[in-house]
Amino acid sequence: MARLDQAVAGIQDSDTFRAYLDVQARFHQYSSANALLILAQRPDATRVAGYRTWKSLGRQVRRGERGITVIVPLHLRHRSATGEAPPPRAPASEVTEPDAGVAPEETVTANRRLRFGLGTVFDVAQTEGTPLPTIDVPLLHEDTGQDLYHRLEQFGQREGLTIRRGDSQLGPTAMGSYSPAERLIVLREAAQLQMTKTLAHELAHHVAGHSQSGPGSEMEAEGVAYVVLAQAGLDSGERSFPYIATWAQDTTVLRAALARIQQVSATIIRQVLAAP
Ligand SMILES: [Zn+2]
Repeated sequence: MARLDQAVAGIQDSDTFRAYLDVQARFHQYSSANALLILAQRPDATRVAGYRTWKSLGRQVRRGERGITVIVPLHLRHRSATGEAPPPRAPASEVTEPDAGVAPEETVTANRRLRFGLGTVFDVAQTEGTPLPTIDVPLLHEDTGQDLYHRLEQFGQREGLTIRRGDSQLGPTAMGSYSPAERLIVLREAAQLQMTKTLAHELAHHVAGHSQSGPGSEMEAEGVAYVVLAQAGLDSGERSFPYIATWAQDTTVLRAALARIQQVSATIIRQVLAAP
């Protein structure tokens, strides 16, 4: 537990990690309607932002690239990270600007009429220039952890879960998934240690009762996987530490979850390592 805390904090305290977070903060969180619009127009988009945001990140949209149309609330047009709404056609008096320093949602009141316009964003693949700072989350390549894998698999079966190997139902970069409704764990084929780590991670979602993926549940599941593997003498830190750092973002977030990680780990360890 101490090594988990210190190693993750070590990543989060680094200059690289701060640069990474600065860039993450420049990307706007899109509504589900906009996420659908982006998907329909450019299914392979990974990171989208407006022309000016790309420019501020040292990247230029390539000549001739067609933008992706999204819906933007006009009263947010100068504050949004995408920021590229066309000039409003409505009279200026109807376009309200939030006061500086006030979060956008606080300026929206029940009485105020929201107006929407169209904005244009571009995918990172349509831009060129300074590479974005990233945190590397490498796959594990060792051929170890076979025994723990079988023990975890047996535990999953005792819990009534189906464990399927293959990449159907998995997103392009996901190594596994857990569906509580189907009681199903899917694992992508990979090196043994990677698959053992992923199975421990998905079982942690199950034992912890997570219903969906999110920063808190991802951090917790990976923390549990690291601790369960460590108890069996296996080290997944190379992948687990940066994975947790990027989900938790801040040193205090993991610290607040350590007791819960310990509790879920202990449950799995009892079930898995104590069995003959
Ligand atoms: Zn997960």
